[in-house]
Formats: sequence, structure tokens, C-alpha cells
Amino acid sequence: MKLINPATEEVTEIEETSLNSIPEMCEKARLAQKIWAANSIDERIKIISNFSKLLSDNKKTLSAAITEDMGKPIASSLKEIEAVNGYVEYFCDNAKTWLANEEVESCVIAYQPKGVIGIISPWNYPLSVPNSSIVPSLIAGNAVIFKPSEHGIRIGGKIVELINSIPGIPQNLCQVIIGGKEYGKALVQSDVDMIAFTGSTAAGKHIMESSASKLHNIILELGGLDAAIVCDDADIEKSAESIVKNNAYNSGQTCCAIKRVFVDEKVYDNFVVAAKNIASDLSVGNPKEDVFMGPVVAKFQLEKIERFVNDAITKGAKVETGGSRNEGTGFFFPPTILTQVNDDMEIMNDEPFGPILPIIPVKNWEEGIDKANSTRYGLAGSVWTEDKEKAKKVLEKIEVGVAGHNCHGVGPVGTPFGGVKQSGIGRVRSRDGMRAFCNTKVIMGL
Ligand code: NAD
Repeated sequence: MKLINPATEEVTEIEETSLNSIPEMCEKARLAQKIWAANSIDERIKIISNFSKLLSDNKKTLSAAITEDMGKPIASSLKEIEAVNGYVEYFCDNAKTWLANEEVESCVIAYQPKGVIGIISPWNYPLSVPNSSIVPSLIAGNAVIFKPSEHGIRIGGKIVELINSIPGIPQNLCQVIIGGKEYGKALVQSDVDMIAFTGSTAAGKHIMESSASKLHNIILELGGLDAAIVCDDADIEKSAESIVKNNAYNSGQTCCAIKRVFVDEKVYDNFVVAAKNIASDLSVGNPKEDVFMGPVVAKFQLEKIERFVNDAITKGAKVETGGSRNEGTGFFFPPTILTQVNDDMEIMNDEPFGPILPIIPVKNWEEGIDKANSTRYGLAGSVWTEDKEKAKKVLEKIEVGVAGHNCHGVGPVGTPFGGVKQSGIGRVRSRDGMRAFCNTKVIMGL
């Protein structure tokens, strides 16, 4: 298959896994899992904790692979490695407590491995997203078959190479599939015991349908159309800066990025001016240099962003800054602020996955809540205000998995992450996210 560097458009060829080999991979994984699960939890934790050191020792190669695959600036790739290190350590520190037997009445509740876990992941956080499933799956005693995104192949291969280099990891415990979405579909059709999928809502629905015949256990971590509600007492400069940067980070390609902003009409004009100034100052360019944003992942993503912006312009939106792709080589699109936006525009109904921020005036925060909730998505949400009591009221009512006051997105390590409505099923990155890879068994009468 062809890999295209999104900054330089250089093409590299890489050999795909044979599609027919997936059933055999599953059989081998099943045998390896039995050997692995025979280790005590202490032994498994000890072995997996070496992954953290390997990530640090190899951070130069790993960050280069992330940047080459999907274009994020090197500094952001390094930050992603640090984040993964943080939660590998956290999982290792807590797994024994989370997976220990519990006593209820005269019974024991035991958390046992499910078997073979198929993990399918996207390209936007190609190290951090898959490892929020790979690491807890392995610690819990499972085998893993990992299908990285076709735009995260180099880093996907390296993750598995590093895990397999750890002494004590049985052969075939952690295997990688190199290929596009047909390979994801084949993995879902295979004899794995569970699918942990992260990606678009459309693909998630397809996976749920095709998992039905096997009744696979599934976790679905899907798309978002997150809203921020800015109240009339918010610190305008500070909130505009945080919101614009949150939207544009990773070139707007974050599931839980702010994708709609509802601003109290009393402070709307000031907020738009502040947001426009910040967005137009963000640097976009060669991801090997010190820039805020690199390219978007691929040509299809650039074209999708253009389609959303053009649809908004045709329906009456005003482009305050940005609005069209950068000239020259690479898939670059600048931070874009849109005003005069209405509910008929694609940008208000679906996820653009690019650095586009529509800013909409509302009468008050109550109307902001109604607008924020008027979507099929429900990943993260936030309110921006200096009044904690008001923040509490808003955060209680927004329909999301993670709700923030003057902050937005994934919570600190140890807190569960996942969405409501069509943003997903299940939680990762926490005690819930480790027990998700276990069968809960009640043992009675002993
Ligand atoms: P995608 O759905 O196109 O692909 C994700 C992965 O699934 C890839 O590996 C792909 O090859 C595979 N795939 C695609 N269709 C499949 C199918 N029918 N059956 C099996 N496998 C299939 O998504 P993407 O473009 O790679 O990633 C962007 C999306 O991921 C966005 O919607 C974003 O919001 C979402 N995302 C969600 C989270 C979260 O935690 N909720 C995190 C990151 C990204």
C-alpha cells in the first residue's frame, strides 16, 4: 500500500498483511493468550511496565514516525509519547487493585480476561488512542490483534515491535495488521472475542451491525461535535485563546475538540475579535519545525474541510480569517473562523475534523445549553464563566461524556473517557476502561 507524507506528499510503499491470514492470526493469538494469562497479575504488570521505558528510550524514532504518518508537529508527537507514558504507569500502578477479587455477601467477584481483543484505531492520536486499549487489554491477560489506521501505519508497526521486544511477552500475543478499512472489516468478522474500535460514527455503526452475527463485545469511541458555551461574565481574552487553540490543535483533528462556540450576545463582538486575532497568529507549516499546526492528514481530509467551508459560505457564512487551503506542496489549511452561521450548514450538523470554528451568538447560557445539546453527538462540552455556581448548572445539563469548566476535552489520567448519544459506547483510560477488557464472573458457594 502507498503511504503519503502529508507535509511533503512523498510516497512510500509498504507491504500489506495478507487478508487471508487474519483467521490464522486469531488462532495463534488464542494460544499465546493462554500462556500469558497463566502469569500472575504481578508478573504481567512487571512485564508491561517495561513498555514505558521503551517509549522514552525510542521517543526520537517514535515521534518521527507519528509526524511522517499524519503530520502533527514533532513537539506534539513528543507530547503524545509523554501522555502515553503517564497512563502506562497509571495502569501498572492501579491494575492490581482494579482487577482484584471482590467479596459480596458470601460470593467472590472475579475479573477474568476476555481472550483475544481486536483493536481498530484512527490516525489522529496514533500512539495514544490504540494504547488506551492495548495496554489495559494486555495487563488484564488478553491477547491483542491491532489494526492501526492506514494513515498511522509506521507508528502502528512500531508499537507492536516495541511490545514484542519486551522479555516475557509470548510470541503472537500482540500482532499487527497492515492494511486499510477492508482489513478492519475482516477483523470484525473474525473469531476475536471483543472489538475495541475508535473512529468515525459511520464506521462505528457499521461495526456494530457486523458484530451482531458473532455477538462480539464492543467498545465504540466515536466522533464528536463538541460545543463551548461562553457566558457574559467570561474572561474573553483568556477563553478565546483557549477555545481557538483547542479547536486548531492537531490541525483540528481531535475527536473532543471544540467544534461549535455559543457566545452570549452581550460579549459576542468582543469574543469574535479576540478569536480572530488569535487564530490569525497561529503558525502553520513544516511539522519538523517549531509550529503550532502541521498539515491535515491527507488529501481526502483537506477536501472534506473545503467542502464544509464552501457549504457554509454558500449558505451565508462570513469568513473572519482563513477559509482556503495554503498554496504549494502538502495538505495545509489555516485556522478558520466563521460567523453568520445557521443551523442548516453542514458544519453545525456534522464533524468537519479540521481547524474550523463557527461562532454563534445566543441570548443567554440557557439558550447555549439547548443549542449545544441539539446534536446527535455527545463527546465533550464546556462552559466558560467566572461564576462556579452557573458553571455547575450548565455542566449538569450538557449531554456529554466529559464536561469542563474553563477547560475542554479529555480529563486527567485515571478519569474515564467516552461519549454519550452517537459519540460512542463504553469508556477507556480508567478502572472502567480496564475492566471493560474482562469478563466479570461471580463465584458462589465456596
Ligand atoms: P475511520 O472510522 O474512517 O477509521 C478508523 C479505523 O477504522 C481505521 O483503522 C479504518 O481503517 C477502520 N475502518 C473504517 N471503516 C471500517 C469498518 N467499516 N469496519 C472496520 N474497520 C473500519 O476514522 P478516521 O478517519 O481514521 O478517524 C477520525 C474519526 O475518529 C473522527 O470521527 C474522530 O472524531 C474519531 N475519533 C474518536 C475518538 C474517541 O475517543 N471518541 C478518538 C479519536 C478519533
